Amino acid sequence: MKYQVDENGYYGDFGGAYIPEMLYPNVEELRKNYLEIIYSNSFQKEFNELLRDYAGRPTPLYLAKRLSAHYRTNIYLKREDLNHTGAHKINNTIGQILLAKRLGKTRIIAETGAGQHGVATATVCALMGIECVVYMGEVDIERQAPNVARMKLLGAKVVPATCGSKTLKDATNEAIRDWINHPEDTHYIIGSVVGPHPYPDMVTKFQSVISEEIKRQLKEKTGNENPDYIVACVGGGSNAAGAFFHFLHDEKVKLIAIEAAGKGVDTGHSAATMVLGKPGIIHGSKTMLMQTDDGQITEPYSISAGLDYPGVGPIHAHLFETGRVIFVNATDEEALSAGYLLCKLEGIIPALESAHALAYMERLKAKGNEVVVINLSGRGDKDLATYIKHMDI
Ligand SMILES: *Cc1c(COP(=O)(O)O)cnc(C)c1O
Repeated sequence: MKYQVDENGYYGDFGGAYIPEMLYPNVEELRKNYLEIIYSNSFQKEFNELLRDYAGRPTPLYLAKRLSAHYRTNIYLKREDLNHTGAHKINNTIGQILLAKRLGKTRIIAETGAGQHGVATATVCALMGIECVVYMGEVDIERQAPNVARMKLLGAKVVPATCGSKTLKDATNEAIRDWINHPEDTHYIIGSVVGPHPYPDMVTKFQSVISEEIKRQLKEKTGNENPDYIVACVGGGSNAAGAFFHFLHDEKVKLIAIEAAGKGVDTGHSAATMVLGKPGIIHGSKTMLMQTDDGQITEPYSISAGLDYPGVGPIHAHLFETGRVIFVNATDEEALSAGYLLCKLEGIIPALESAHALAYMERLKAKGNEVVVINLSGRGDKDLATYIKHMDI
């Protein structure tokens, strides 16, 4: 179980639960109960039914013929973009709302940067009739007006974080403060494989449905459940962790994670944590983190809001350190080009996050007969304005 979390919540040197003492009872309640709950028959039944009938799973594994011809290899797209709400995030929020219900919680809080996780959380709260409060930086509320409108339409209360840089980090602080004040009735839904143990493991397990399906679908289509490559973008790392999970032990499957280089890793406008980061503590776990010499978190930058995060989940820090996953990066420009190419060749507008994963095909020296699975984490409707702004035709 080399790449699994250990009983103390660590992946090798990374992970753990570095939290204020006041939060200890909340996190401990989760830690003690999550495995028993999520592996119970009744949970699995309800989870799988909702994934199927509400989220629309299994998502297709699609052989992209024209893209494959362009790169002279065999490219399959795992269509997470076809999930309800347009990305993989719903897999996790469905899992966590079912867990919250079983813990007797009647109120949900979440933090959101770009608003995608806020929308996925507001969605499952509406589905279950549970009160929902989403913390969001004041600056992000202005920048991400359509997602704020969506959350409100879904019945959530969006609370602005007005301290500091008024972005994700400040929203997270507000959410933690709220949770400390409501330990009995509230569950905090974290949106990626980040945060104190058990969140990274819990979110990885909910998202692992992606690789479970890839295995089954590839076997049906090619006779072999293992591809040569799996490629996924990494912000916090939840879609990548989900796409890699069931392949971690098949060392012949090359796992490729793509970070956002932004304007370039040396420009000071980047989110390529593995190149620019060092071990440190963020959101309650020890992981790789972009920081100054005196330990201040560096403001990240990427054209895609979902990859604009200064750390990565601790599982990825471990997969990087052990060399099991190869980390590369793609710039804004490379991602945009890859996004335009998919539009023209396949009639699919990818999320800008997913376009970073697609950009890897420019690097791969294809021999012609490999099988490459790219996790298409989300759809690009939310990114139309950015695509149009950069389109020079
Ligand atoms: C949020 C998001 C991401 C980044 O989050 P991970 O936890 O790294 O998966 C990637 N793609 C899309 C479409 C997203 O919405």
